[in-house]
Amino acid sequence: MAVDESLTKIVEKTVKRAKWRGLSVVEVGDPVLRKTCASYEGQIAPETFGKLIYAMRSCMLSKPGVGLAAPQVGLPLSFAIMEDHVAGARRKGLGAGEELREEGRMERRGDEREFAEFPFLVAINPSYKPLTSKKAYFYEGCLSLPGFQAVVGRYLDIEAEWEDEKGEEHARKLHGWPARIFQHETDHLSGTLYLDKCITRSFASNDNCEKFLLPYSISKTKKELGFSFKMKNDED
Ligand SMILES: [Zn+2]
Repeated sequence: MAVDESLTKIVEKTVKRAKWRGLSVVEVGDPVLRKTCASYEGQIAPETFGKLIYAMRSCMLSKPGVGLAAPQVGLPLSFAIMEDHVAGARRKGLGAGEELREEGRMERRGDEREFAEFPFLVAINPSYKPLTSKKAYFYEGCLSLPGFQAVVGRYLDIEAEWEDEKGEEHARKLHGWPARIFQHETDHLSGTLYLDKCITRSFASNDNCEKFLLPYSISKTKKELGFSFKMKNDED
């Protein structure tokens, strides 16, 4: 597909503005978050696309977040960025004390998130297929629904496919936390939010998540808030 000159101009203006005040993230209720995104076929001129990806990454890291999809910056096009790191940057934006607190929590409840390194990825026209029916349950938030989190069941193992900026196709098996991020971001591109898939009774403000829920295991949280799902080692 040829470059869309008028769209390129709009994006160019947006990234110029972003240099000063950062990109703004579209919040839930904006119809752009509910659109099925058009396949990305190079509608934005390559140089401008590079600047947009840079601005999106700066925005994601500053929030902090671990992924950002094009509709979240107002573009109904099929691409997203993702990134999370096990070492140091894992609790991006948190001070040393808070990072220690997180370490303590993980010791107590085990690594239910199944953290794994997820280097920066620009995923164009991504898709995924579950490799097994096994799901993992953990909290998830979204930069488009700031201030809240909920438990979402996500496939534990997926086959992820995407194209890079050069149009080359990639396929990779993802497990645990990176698989969750990939599913969340790819869902954005078909107008699906985590809200559509979460266990609504687990929905919580970030403050209450911090205070009542995150320090404990998901099994305890299930009992406290009165929701259910079947996990491999569940007693009930
Ligand atoms: Zn999101």
